[in-house]
Amino acid sequence: MSNSKVCVVIGASHGGVNFAFALRKEGWDGEIILFDSDATLPYHRPPLSKAYLTSDDAIDKNLLKSAETYEKDNITLRLGATVRKIDREAQKIILADGSEQAYDKLVYAAGARPFIPPIPGLDQATNCYALRSAADVQGIRESFNASEHKRVVVIGGGYIGLETAASLKKLGGTVTVLEREERILQRVTAPHMSAFFQKLHSDNGVQVLTAKNVSGIEREDGANTVCCDDGARFPADLIIVGVGIRVNSELATEAGLDVDNGIVVNQAAQTSDENIYAIGDCTLHRNPHYDRNIRLESVQNAVDQAKVAAAAICGKAPIYDTIPWFWSDQYDVKLQMVGLSQGYDDIIVREEADDDKRFSVWYFKGDELLSVDAVNYAKAYVLGTKFIKARNKVDKTKIADNSVEFKPGNLLQD
Ligand SMILES: Cc1cc2nc3c(=O)[nH]c(=O)nc-3n(C[C@H](O)[C@H](O)[C@H](O)COP(=O)(O)OP(=O)(O)OC[C@H]3O[C@@H](n4cnc5c(N)ncnc54)[C@H](O)[C@@H]3O)c2cc1C
Repeated sequence: MSNSKVCVVIGASHGGVNFAFALRKEGWDGEIILFDSDATLPYHRPPLSKAYLTSDDAIDKNLLKSAETYEKDNITLRLGATVRKIDREAQKIILADGSEQAYDKLVYAAGARPFIPPIPGLDQATNCYALRSAADVQGIRESFNASEHKRVVVIGGGYIGLETAASLKKLGGTVTVLEREERILQRVTAPHMSAFFQKLHSDNGVQVLTAKNVSGIEREDGANTVCCDDGARFPADLIIVGVGIRVNSELATEAGLDVDNGIVVNQAAQTSDENIYAIGDCTLHRNPHYDRNIRLESVQNAVDQAKVAAAAICGKAPIYDTIPWFWSDQYDVKLQMVGLSQGYDDIIVREEADDDKRFSVWYFKGDELLSVDAVNYAKAYVLGTKFIKARNKVDKTKIADNSVEFKPGNLLQD
């Protein structure tokens, strides 16, 4: 189809790598070149705070694809190569080492980086890590293993902070999570779910403290003390910062693309420049089901948008229209979430009689089902997905009643 054409991808992670293989599958026979600052072969990020952190595995046990698979599909990886500039007029990118690469199509898959809050003393703290990359895990493992007391303070009670807390507890740490808001996971889930995870951590020996605003890090006798604005102080051999991310959108902004809390793309993942597409964590896109613009931080979004961009570049007219989903693993709990709960005005909690660690939370706006959070309950997640997609009218009384068998036909309004 494209013969001598070149498709360049900035970012070789879930978005960029899946895009490259999808583009080949769609029939692109020109060059595909992936650039990434990270020198490691692209790997899965979700296990970094979960099973990978608690294992001794080398990163090659956690790769998205083997080196041979890239070779087989004639996909060129340029790792340890940071892109500094996009020159749209000349249709080329410029790298940190001054070299250049021309493109016919450019795909921006630069994702996000951890947000490091401006806490006084944080930049001087030792053994202090955010968690986004394999190198971060390497640092955390080494500092943790070298530490005598293994006192860990996690700043931020979101998914990454909580998963990391659970993993380091499993490895034998004394772990404290400090959350600024009144409850953990406040931004992303209902009070019932926050309370469940608070208790789960407490039952597993992790101290989770809310309404704790970290105001500074002090260094005493070569050790860190994490200080809060209410006077509380926590000695820490290891500090994990998990307070959210910042989109890597600077190159797009400098190149004059539309950016608004993410690179603005249409339903074919195309930016305001017809030769530049953007996918994954760095995009702001329209979700047709919820009829609003969203930015997502999930593997599902990166992979699905990658397929849409590949199809569009190969001349199809795809429309990105998915129901977002996400998961989190902490201790023996698997949380699966489908849909977007923002704007809900009613919640139904369905507890299962046989197991207090198996339940689901159903979020509604009026009688429209917006989303479902399912704890150790894949069936609730699967049914929720089906109902949301079909815009089925679910009977709230039947959902709440755990004597009603959990089958699609039993749960809809008459
Ligand atoms: C610890 C952790 C746990 C997670 N757990 C889950 C989970 O359970 N479920 C889930 O759905 N999602 C999870 N996520 C989120 C998920 O990993 C992201 O949504 C996904 O990685 C997004 O993929 P992406 O390709 O858009 O961006 P990224 O994965 O951020 O990749 C962007 C890449 O671009 C590169 N890059 C950036 N700028 C440049 C530049 N100028 N030049 C060259 N390269 C550049 C970066 O080095 C990076 O490799 C987790 C993330 C983390 C960090």
